[in-house]
Amino acid sequence: RIGTAALAVQVVGSNWPKPHYTLLVTGLCRFQILQLLKEKPYPVAEVEQLDRLEQFTNQHKSEEELGELSEQFYKYAVQLVEMLDMSVPAVAKLRRLLDNLPREALPDILTSIIRTSNQEKLQILDAVRLEERFKMTIPLLVRQIEGLKLLQKTRKPKQDDDKRVVAIRPNRRINHIPSTTEDEEEEEDHDDVVMLEKKIRTSSMSEQALKVCLKEIKRLKKMPQSMPEYALTRNYLELMVELPWNKSTKDRLEIRAARILLDNDHYAMEKLKKRVLEYLAVRQLKNNLKGPILCFVGPPGVGKTSVGRSIAKTLGREFHRIALGGVCDQSDIRGHRRTYVGSMPGRIINGLKTVGVNNPVFLLDEVDKLGKSLQGDPAAALLEVLDPEQNHSFTDHYLNVAFDLSQVLFIATANTTATIPPALLDRMEIIQVPGYTQEEKIEIAHRHLIPKQLEQHGLTPQQIQIPQVTTLDIITRYTREAGVRSLDRKLGAICRAVAVKVAEGQHKETKPDRAEVGEGEEHVTEDAKTESISDTADLALPPEMPILIDFHALKDILGPPMYEMEVSERLSQPGVAIGLAWTPLGGEIMFVEASRMDGEGQLTLTGQLGDVMKESAHLAISWLRSNAKRYQLTNASGSFDLLDNTDIHLHFPAGAVTKDGPSAGVTIVTCLASLFSGRLVCSDVAMTGEITLRGLVLPVGGIKDKVLAAHRAGLKRIIIPRRNEKDLEEIAVNIRQDLTFVMASCLDEVLNAAFDGGFAVKPRVERLNSKL
Ligand code: ADP
Repeated sequence: RIGTAALAVQVVGSNWPKPHYTLLVTGLCRFQILQLLKEKPYPVAEVEQLDRLEQFTNQHKSEEELGELSEQFYKYAVQLVEMLDMSVPAVAKLRRLLDNLPREALPDILTSIIRTSNQEKLQILDAVRLEERFKMTIPLLVRQIEGLKLLQKTRKPKQDDDKRVVAIRPNRRINHIPSTTEDEEEEEDHDDVVMLEKKIRTSSMSEQALKVCLKEIKRLKKMPQSMPEYALTRNYLELMVELPWNKSTKDRLEIRAARILLDNDHYAMEKLKKRVLEYLAVRQLKNNLKGPILCFVGPPGVGKTSVGRSIAKTLGREFHRIALGGVCDQSDIRGHRRTYVGSMPGRIINGLKTVGVNNPVFLLDEVDKLGKSLQGDPAAALLEVLDPEQNHSFTDHYLNVAFDLSQVLFIATANTTATIPPALLDRMEIIQVPGYTQEEKIEIAHRHLIPKQLEQHGLTPQQIQIPQVTTLDIITRYTREAGVRSLDRKLGAICRAVAVKVAEGQHKETKPDRAEVGEGEEHVTEDAKTESISDTADLALPPEMPILIDFHALKDILGPPMYEMEVSERLSQPGVAIGLAWTPLGGEIMFVEASRMDGEGQLTLTGQLGDVMKESAHLAISWLRSNAKRYQLTNASGSFDLLDNTDIHLHFPAGAVTKDGPSAGVTIVTCLASLFSGRLVCSDVAMTGEITLRGLVLPVGGIKDKVLAAHRAGLKRIIIPRRNEKDLEEIAVNIRQDLTFVMASCLDEVLNAAFDGGFAVKPRVERLNSKL
């Protein structure tokens, strides 16, 4: 029950990756516990100080009594210290301390320095009387001296080691708090290190890695545990042992099963599934395929990630998703060097550690959203990871040895290829995953999303019924997206609302008496019950199963419809045309508006346009000016010079979104033609295409997404560049049947199709100028 009172001087350590703290304390004096006051959360006791600090300085009496003992002790201490290497600063300091410190303090200090067991240290601590303390410590000193002598005799040339062992012990008055478990802990740690070494030797790591690890473990053994580096090195070695150097799962690949699995998990997306099957088939035939890296590009919520997961499932491989969105530091991919505080391996190595095999499917999500910063370019780091020629020796900065990534199957996803660095793009095979049509969405909802949501909410088809018309309503009036994520959320909201009803109904059924007593007076009309499921009136009775989600219920749960068809009303005056735009979120319809006013021939463009789009606007105006006579286009005062005393303002709505690209060219021409001719553009026509100064219409990208957007918006006629005709084949037949496509190769054709009754061209009068 005797302990040392101490003052905490310093606490160092961190919680990461494992809690490891070092406490630096200064011992003050002995004390004895008189009474334990409480034990939790930490012990509090009444104590009595046992040795007084001042007694060293002003008790001359004790010196006389103990003179002989202390003299003897001092001699031994000096003998011991002199056997050590005086060139070590710590030893020299110790020698000085022996002379400077009061003799009474020496037993305590030397006991903590020389090699003693914990038990022995405790005994010295328990010896409150000085005389006893001296008597007990002298044999320990002698033992150490004898031990050293013996060692010096047997290992003359290598005596340094033993000196070091003594020298690195703490040599000041600062002692560790003696704890009964210290020795055990030390031993345990030592055992751990031995275990670690064993693990390293038995692990299947590469020769190079083994060499590094053995070197590190040698260092670790010599390192005091209190050094921060100890924890670092140990973590490093533990990671090295845990990494799946040679562990892999066996591929079970059967193309027929893969096809069934893909079809079962995903509706539609034929092109993607076809390409994935090809890829898997080649893998089946040639096992160590250094194949291309697939990159699925498409709007959010079209199932890119879930196809990746399905591929892992068909192959029987582990799946790991690495989200790259916003990563702007290359050490995220490649790890930090171990010299940094808090250094850690990159995401690739971390992922391998998580899955525990060296041939998982890694899904690199959102490669188009990689950032760039002062800390290097993560895309450049990815280049090495994705290059089949290089990635068999991928070197993470933290590991500092090569790891073979060639067995890993990488799949990337992105919303657009525009922001993927070209070098990275070059290493991947792009597979476009366009958005879904309404019909496809309905099928996906009924085959996959609704069953999944029901299961998640603990509902059964006997409790809720969502007819196809309702799904269509949700798709057209509550969501506007290319994928199905928002639809999925809305279905989730419906399920939650129904779950409340069902749970309430069950509650009522179990306690029928109470419900009747409390709410018996309420009269519930049949109509109220069917009209609204959230109507409080029908709470008294359990709702009729299955709860039918009709239009009214939809309005109750999701609120009033968010989107309405607005096309026709916006085309009620000249100077408006509908364009088709492609965005990373899928296709969109876009109203282009123009107006003119008195001015000096200036063109104002608003709506956050990029340079390409601004150029398109200038092109359009120039073309119209040069063809004004032909089309009988005039400015407000009737002049064929369209910009004479006139300013033009062109606006692209959704002004907060940056827009760029050449495909709005034809729309701008149509919109301005309408403005200058005073005629209305047909309200059911949408268009896309790049223009040239000579009036040609050039092909553009993203036709499928654009057509789907036009179809979603209820438009009927679509003008596309003639050279984009081939892209129409990708579009489902039922959609093509709903729409009329006009192929245009020059602006004349566009204008003719865009206006009811065509856009008249004034026939050129061929005048023969005779020189006769
Ligand atoms: P992305 O990665 O393209 O943004 P996700 O893969 O996360 O999208 O898909 C969102 C959700 O939509 C998932 O729950 C997925 O199951 C579902 N989903 C998307 N497309 C389909 C499809 N064709 N068939 C079945 N479910 C689909």
